[in-house]
Formats: sequence, C-alpha cells, structure tokens
Amino acid sequence: MGDDNCLFCKIRDGAIPTSVLYRDEHVLAFNDISPKAPFHVLVIPVRHIASLSDAQPDDAEVFGRLMLAGARLAKEAGFGPSGYRVIMNVGKGAGQTIFHVHLHVIGGGFSGSFE
Ligand code: 5GP
Ligand code: ZN
Repeated sequence: MGDDNCLFCKIRDGAIPTSVLYRDEHVLAFNDISPKAPFHVLVIPVRHIASLSDAQPDDAEVFGRLMLAGARLAKEAGFGPSGYRVIMNVGKGAGQTIFHVHLHVIGGGFSGSFE
C-alpha cells in the first residue's frame, strides 16, 4: 500500500521507528520531528494520498477522520479551552515537503490571530 519512497508510509509501516499517539484503520498520528509549537502533531491517512489536490470524492470520509482525530488529540492534550490550529499545506509552493497527506495540529505559544 502506498509509495515505497514515502517517508510517512515508512512511519506507518514501522520501517522508521516513531512513537504513534493514535492509530485506527483509517488514520494515525505522531509528533512532528521538528515541532513549531509546544504541541505539534501530524495526523495522516493510513492509505497513501499524496496531497489534498489528489483527493477524490471517496476520500471525503478520511479527510473528516483526520480532522476529528486531530481535534481529539488536541483536546486530550489540554488545548480545548485555549484553542489550537489545524493546517494542511497543499503543494510545494505552500510549503508541502512530504507528499503523503498530513494535518498539522498545533497548540500553544500563540500570541494572536493567524500569523
Ligand atoms: P509539510 O512541510 O510537508 O507540511 O510538513 C512536513 C512535516 O513533517 C514537517 O513539519 C517536518 O518537521 C515533519 N517531518 C519531516 N520528517 C519527519 C520524520 O522523519 N518524522 C516526523 N515525525 N516528522 C517529520
Ligand atoms: Zn505515503
């Protein structure tokens, strides 16, 4: 399943040891290796999808699952009251560096609105 050269497929398959915070048959979540805030989790679909731009109508459910898993993890980490961000970079020009869909879930260290 997926792409032999994909870093996040390797994490999913355990070929790159990574502590997994949440996993079900649709999504998994792990800490970003280079956190941009005190809480910085990545949530990915189990099935390799390169980018949101490649998503098909049948992928609607898994994109909803990414959001809901991210929200649950942020709330469990205590960021419900303060709020948190969910960000998906789509395409090289927007900063996407890994072409396996991932939702950034970021909490803490905010000073204002969107920067
Ligand atoms: P992008 O820039 O594609 O939206 O985000 C990719 C994210 O993956 C970056 O925040 C980066 O720090 C993270 N990342 C890159 N390599 C690894 C890795 O080997 N393990 C983990 N856990 N995160 C990684
Ligand atoms: Zn992949």
